[in-house]
Amino acid sequence: MKKIRLGKTDLMVPQIGFGGIPIQTPPEETAISLVRDSLDLGINFIDTSRMYTNSEERIGKAIQGRRQDVYLASKSASRTTDAVEADLETSLGNLQTDYIDLYQFHNVSTSEDLQAVLAPGGPLDVVRTARDKGRIRHIGITSHRLSVAKEAILTGHFETVMVALNFVNTEAADELLPLAKDRDVGVIIMKPMAGGMLENPALSFKYLRRFPDVLTLIGIARRGEMKEILDIVQATDPITPEEEKEMDRIRDELGTGFCRMCNYCQPCPQKIMISAIMYTQVALKRFDPERIFTGEWDSFMNKIEDCVDCGKCEERCPYQLPIRERIRELGTRYFAARDAYMAQSK
Ligand code: SF4
Ligand code: SF4
Repeated sequence: MKKIRLGKTDLMVPQIGFGGIPIQTPPEETAISLVRDSLDLGINFIDTSRMYTNSEERIGKAIQGRRQDVYLASKSASRTTDAVEADLETSLGNLQTDYIDLYQFHNVSTSEDLQAVLAPGGPLDVVRTARDKGRIRHIGITSHRLSVAKEAILTGHFETVMVALNFVNTEAADELLPLAKDRDVGVIIMKPMAGGMLENPALSFKYLRRFPDVLTLIGIARRGEMKEILDIVQATDPITPEEEKEMDRIRDELGTGFCRMCNYCQPCPQKIMISAIMYTQVALKRFDPERIFTGEWDSFMNKIEDCVDCGKCEERCPYQLPIRERIRELGTRYFAARDAYMAQSK
């Protein structure tokens, strides 16, 4: 597997990293196998977060006996010193390690949020102290908003930046990659398949071959999937004119009108989990129906009826999505699928 230098961290990491979101869902044994299979393929950069429920714990179990061969990255979405400190301790415990290679501030999405991280004696200082003590090795930041990611790069305080890039969401390629390169900040790409909205791995990863100097995180949910994707990443066949056309077709079809899971629409006064609901169509295709229809997802969907039409979410959505209309439409589809599933399993 080709290695890249991750900016000023000087870490030499594989071009592809293991994304820790999807392993929250399968049975633990499967999740552990997914991590171990990927390590066997040379994918020794693993990214997770305090926000991904059991992901850190599962990774901690999977890397037992192999810690020295792995680069671990985790994140805290907290913005106060005490909470960041507590998150770091929890992450170290869950991952069963005494250091984390890259610790990132998770989803820093507004300038105010960035200022909270940078505040004197605040979260950044806590993480720096942890670095001085050897509890973490490098400091990074993740953002769903390019303007904030660029602002973070310009502060000079972060060694890596994580942003979304895929053939539908291409802005980071022009707007951020050159700046990051200029400032020697390592770039980590998330959502190479737009969080599951893009269903064709060949198109998605052929597109990303255009950016050989970045580390792309791949989330997998079944054994064998990582190898299939690696084969695409490592092949050299060019994108065909038909594939270019297909990418254009998908871009036109999705337009700018799909949810990027950025959560700028929150907080909803009715505590409706908008981005989770927006993901329903993908979840219905990808996840075990039993878990969706009888688990937490069902409670997210039942909350749709609590919407009071205040419109606050739509004012905040940077993509001007018609959120109220969309969540109700998805609710209708979801309940029809759930009813059909329940009827069939009786
Ligand atoms: S319009 Fe509905 S979903 Fe949006 S913020 Fe208001 S209550 Fe929440
Ligand atoms: S609805 Fe808009 S603001 Fe909310 S997560 Fe999706 S893209 Fe982001």
